[in-house]
Amino acid sequence: MKTPINGTLHGDEADERGMHMPFDNSYARDLVGFYVRWKPAGSPAPRLLQLNRSLAAELGLDPDELASAKGLAVLAGNAVPALAEPLAQAYSGHQFGGYSPQLGDGRALLLGELIDRESRRRDVALKGSGKTPFSRRGDGLAALGPVLREYLMGEAMHVLGIPTTRALAAVATGATVRRERVLPGGILTRVAASHLRVGTFEFVAAKRDEALLRRLADYAIARHYPALADEPDRYLQLLSNVVDRQALLVARWMGVGFIHGVMNTDNMTISGETIDYGPCAFMEQFDPNAVFSSIDTEGRYAYGNQPAIAQWNLARLAEALSPLIDSDSTRAAERGNAAVQDFSERFSVHWTAVLRAKLGLPDLHASDRAFADEYLQLLQAHRIDFTLGFRRLTDAAVGGDAPLLALFGDAAPAMQPWLQRWRLLAPAAGEAERATTMRQVNPIYIPRNHQVEAALTAAVDHDDLAPFERLLAVLERPFEELEPDAVFAQPAPSEETARYRTFCGT
Ligand code: AMP
Ligand code: MG
Repeated sequence: MKTPINGTLHGDEADERGMHMPFDNSYARDLVGFYVRWKPAGSPAPRLLQLNRSLAAELGLDPDELASAKGLAVLAGNAVPALAEPLAQAYSGHQFGGYSPQLGDGRALLLGELIDRESRRRDVALKGSGKTPFSRRGDGLAALGPVLREYLMGEAMHVLGIPTTRALAAVATGATVRRERVLPGGILTRVAASHLRVGTFEFVAAKRDEALLRRLADYAIARHYPALADEPDRYLQLLSNVVDRQALLVARWMGVGFIHGVMNTDNMTISGETIDYGPCAFMEQFDPNAVFSSIDTEGRYAYGNQPAIAQWNLARLAEALSPLIDSDSTRAAERGNAAVQDFSERFSVHWTAVLRAKLGLPDLHASDRAFADEYLQLLQAHRIDFTLGFRRLTDAAVGGDAPLLALFGDAAPAMQPWLQRWRLLAPAAGEAERATTMRQVNPIYIPRNHQVEAALTAAVDHDDLAPFERLLAVLERPFEELEPDAVFAQPAPSEETARYRTFCGT
């Protein structure tokens, strides 16, 4: 692939003035042919709206320097640090089941990789940084609202213990973006274990160049599954490992009521991190059919469909890897299929573990799953808030039944027989211990849709970041119930939730 440089905005002078960031760029080095070198378009009047200081420190960056004019220039795409090698990654993807051969970073650029304080290699990328050769009909921009939304959702997921990309910063560019209406533009600086996607493999597989495919697979193994490097069947094992990590990820999502909303293969990582917070949402009333995305008219990415869709996406990964799995295509298909079929079992193991922790039942085995499922059925039948359903059960572990009974309201008598059986299953360690461990996995605060919208409206329409910062602060300690934050634990009125729709944020 040619590597044109769009160098209109950035002379050497800008580089010299730029912030020092010790990038080491393995993707640019090892994966020539998988990207186009490109530069950010720049922002006319940038303002730093949010800086993730603890993440900056984790990356070995000085938060004060990042917040300074030099740092802001990088975060706004107005300066490229000397060691950065900005590039737009190429990838394909199945979107809502249909194959798009040419997606790629249409509004994002990888700046480079930093080795963090724990020696982990992390991508640092800009999202909303202008057109690239992959922009197709898009403008290469991001609106500020979705940028702040991705920031908030990613941080909330991280604190909930769910593997995810994270936001380093959110910048208002000072430019406007045309959507249904004219909106302020933003740039998110995103940190990821890598941006390798199932769609990256699909992109290479379509070229039918086995050497290139092997290069990508070896790179993915070295970066994310180094223990496999010397295994004779490492490509099949790569697939199996991604199957397991995705099964774990989806189980963890579902344990907090998270609906990704756009599980296209280009939005599924090889690392097992959650990526691309577009039309995602947290469910309130428990309903496996819950969908919020305005474009998901068929419910393809509904809450309860997520395991099946993950498995479907992994079948696309298996197809892409097939030439490396076995030189005989029939055998390759059989072995790849078997690995993908394992998803069901892997998901069941991880989901049982999630339920075990949420219900405070350390001895819950797959064979007792019916008991756990009964609780989910009670939540569903009586339209109970998923988050509070588990949190109030946690209170009941130490005898505080009243909040749980109040939550079920008229349906409390229907739930009590289950509650009595649950009590008899108390772990040997005792009630207090049960409550403590349950509290660590059953948040009281999640990003509730109406709260998120209110915070974004204040930030975008009224230039008031206070509600956003308040919500973020609450979400940063989701397990600790404090009286002044009670409003953040409250579900939206059900009519509001029924009307709630999310958008892709493009
Ligand atoms: P997403 O649904 O956000 O994961 O994006 C799917 C594809 O569309 C990716 O290739 C994006 O880079 C591209 N894309 C999304 N929004 C824009 C935009 N405003 N301008 C250019 N490309 C975009
Ligand atoms: Mg995407």
